[in-house]
Amino acid sequence: MKELASELKKYRNVFIVCDRKVEGFARSLDFARDDRRAILPITADEAHKNIGTVMDICQWLMVNGADRDALVLAAGGGVTTDMAGFAASIYKRGIRYANVPTTLLSMVDAGIGGKTGVNLDGFKNLLGVIRQPEFTAIFPEVLETLPERELRSGLAEMLKTFIIKNPAHAYERTVDLFRNPVRPASCGPQASPSFFTEGELPELIRLAAGIKQDIVEKDEFETRLRRKLNLGHTWGHAIEWWQRESGNAGTGEPFTHGEAVAIGMVQAARFAEKLGFAEEEGLSARIKADLEACGLPTELPCPAKELLPAILNDKKMQDGKINLVLPVRIGKVIIRKVASEIIAGA
Ligand code: NAD
Repeated sequence: MKELASELKKYRNVFIVCDRKVEGFARSLDFARDDRRAILPITADEAHKNIGTVMDICQWLMVNGADRDALVLAAGGGVTTDMAGFAASIYKRGIRYANVPTTLLSMVDAGIGGKTGVNLDGFKNLLGVIRQPEFTAIFPEVLETLPERELRSGLAEMLKTFIIKNPAHAYERTVDLFRNPVRPASCGPQASPSFFTEGELPELIRLAAGIKQDIVEKDEFETRLRRKLNLGHTWGHAIEWWQRESGNAGTGEPFTHGEAVAIGMVQAARFAEKLGFAEEEGLSARIKADLEACGLPTELPCPAKELLPAILNDKKMQDGKINLVLPVRIGKVIIRKVASEIIAGA
């Protein structure tokens, strides 16, 4: 907190846009009770992740006299950081913004890398820009109030990062930390506060965030290296599309983004084996067992052929081929163009 306080002193005006579910936490960031700071709580869900909410944020900035020296500080999950970052990027042709992520997913993924934006007519993140935040300040203690399912959704993205790069056995340590039901009490909001603030979890969050930051610095506009972060997303996005299209076929609660990515990672590992790229024996079975041990789903909710329209429509498709991110072992992935017939024939 002290570091953030001194960081914020650099800006003449700080405008805090927060998810209303973490308003108390966001107000605690405003510890100096500085009356030059304004705070706007927003409803942060996919239905409100649209241009209308961004307009509301911009209007609020205008009415409160935000000038080009102002900083927008986004406190919330990916919905909040995506929207506040986008509003800051277009207000007065772009003012600075910074993130204080409050979900595990936004700490290791959405809050880093500068992708901002909103949905359009139900299409995810169709409007947006890439523009880097001034900084991303992580306070793991805020995860204490995060619902367990959201925590596990972020866990899937964290494991994805460590499948891409695995320094200091971070992948194995993460699986051990969240293994279910060995230590169920340490995984959810019922966990002791120190679970979030001390020991393994804060360190693993820092490692995952650092890996993403490093990849983004090398390839900000996703021309090559950054594509690796899409591991599991070809099937993940297709599952999310299928859930919307079919109303989840009446099967109850749809999967979250992280859960869909977990299923997608198992599919990607099976493809890596099928195409002969996997270097580690039993790779897909290992990833599946680890994700399940962490309380994540691993099997498709529908026959694979029902996902094909979305997979073949993927924006990563080029000349009838799709760029698949394939794990070859824990800590290494490759990108290979795979003909659509091969995916269709699977
Ligand atoms: P989210 O922002 O919707 O937050 C999940 C839920 O948790 C919401 O109900 C929210 O109100 C609540 N919440 C947030 N912090 C809380 C806390 N500390 N305690 C209690 N409740 C809390 O979702 P998310 O999973 O963080 O992010 C998903 C969004 O991020 C999607 O819109 C996705 O498109 C986007 N995303 C962006 C990037 C990127 O690079 N910009 C990457 C991945 C995902």
